[in-house]
Amino acid sequence: MSDPRRAIPRTDALLREPAVAAAAERLGRERAKDVVTRTLAQARHGALAPHRVRETVLARLLDLESSGTTLVPVLNATGVVVHTNLGRAPLAHAAREAVYAATGYVDVELDLATGARAGRGRGTLAALRERVPEAEDALVVNNGAAALLLATTALGAGREVVVSRGEMVEIGDGFRLPALVESAGARLREVGTTNRTTVADYAEAVGEGTGALLKVHPSNFRVAGFTSAPTVDELADLGRAHGTPLVVDIGSGLLAHDPLLPDEPDAASTLRAGAGVVTASGDKLLGGPQSGLVLGHAPLVERMRRHPMARALRVDKLTLAALEATLRGPVPPVPLAVHARADELEARTRSLAARLSDRGVGLADPAVVPVEGRVGGGGAPEVPLPGWAVSLPERYAAALRLGSPAVLARLDRGRCLVDLRCVPREQEDALVEVVVAVGA
Ligand SMILES: *Cc1c(COP(=O)(O)O)cnc(C)c1O
Repeated sequence: MSDPRRAIPRTDALLREPAVAAAAERLGRERAKDVVTRTLAQARHGALAPHRVRETVLARLLDLESSGTTLVPVLNATGVVVHTNLGRAPLAHAAREAVYAATGYVDVELDLATGARAGRGRGTLAALRERVPEAEDALVVNNGAAALLLATTALGAGREVVVSRGEMVEIGDGFRLPALVESAGARLREVGTTNRTTVADYAEAVGEGTGALLKVHPSNFRVAGFTSAPTVDELADLGRAHGTPLVVDIGSGLLAHDPLLPDEPDAASTLRAGAGVVTASGDKLLGGPQSGLVLGHAPLVERMRRHPMARALRVDKLTLAALEATLRGPVPPVPLAVHARADELEARTRSLAARLSDRGVGLADPAVVPVEGRVGGGGAPEVPLPGWAVSLPERYAAALRLGSPAVLARLDRGRCLVDLRCVPREQEDALVEVVVAVGA
């Protein structure tokens, strides 16, 4: 028999087809070509029958025209919950609805009762304060980096910000916190050593020119062995003695202590321990939209709010809506996935394996294997999340990525592992169909 892949049309032939050419005219040739290339790749990987290429290209071009975006929804079957390359946190249902509701005109800066101007995002800030009663005031900016930048600039620009050499971290993709802090005019005063810094090191550095003490949670690595770092309590005491605020970047946005992640700092405990300002990301462990959270003492947060840079870092109404719904609504997908129970994951995984096998998919042997999921996204690097995965032959991985919906699985020692931790139950049927199509 001849190779069925020979029946796959060529890119230029497809682009010349009248319906495709017309869509390319409306969408732009590059975007249309992108759809064609992706669909052809899928067919070459066996994830799409050659005779369905033309109709699939046309359907996708129409989808693209109506949705207006090239972003492809992905089923995250990696077991990594906060996956940076997949946009970190998937929003809760309530947050998605809230975003949609906020797309029109909304009272984001208006008091409908009086007709007067009102504080921007006041409902979101109130929700933050309700969740973290230790915070006298709160502010939301564009992301965690913006929150830290604003804190060190408003409190430390033109002065020194004292930080431990053990906390001069690179968060990822070349993004270095020291460079960020210094970019807006604060000078970093490094104290201590990479593995050990004491409160006495900070005390020696504090003086007239000190704007703030800074403590950064090294969220994506651990220094083990002969190490020490002063606690938030100790630094807060030192700060109080000198009238110097303590800024703590906790990173992952945990609002209260989580026993599953014992080493992950949280906003409430950090404020109780005496921090003046806590900064964090909204789209890591909190599971909200990309945003930067600022929580702390009213006069410090007010200084940040009034700093000219705050205007450049502020969030839009869609983010405010999504964040408020995340804070007020049911537990969002990220914390749910982090806390998913291993026995429930095992039951779901065994049932998925049985369904696939019934549909003729050749599973690897053994078909169901224990795996360790991860929080990911620069949080809790050491904490394994015990789970389960369906094991497929390696060749599935590339075809699944190009499937519809696209599925990102985990490659491990020649196997393609499908981990359900981050796959919503209501998407399991779609997952089965993609795997069956790829296996056919
Ligand atoms: C993730 C992280 C940041 C950066 O936050 P973004 O929301 O990505 O801007 C800063 N500091 C720490 C400790 C982090 O973990």
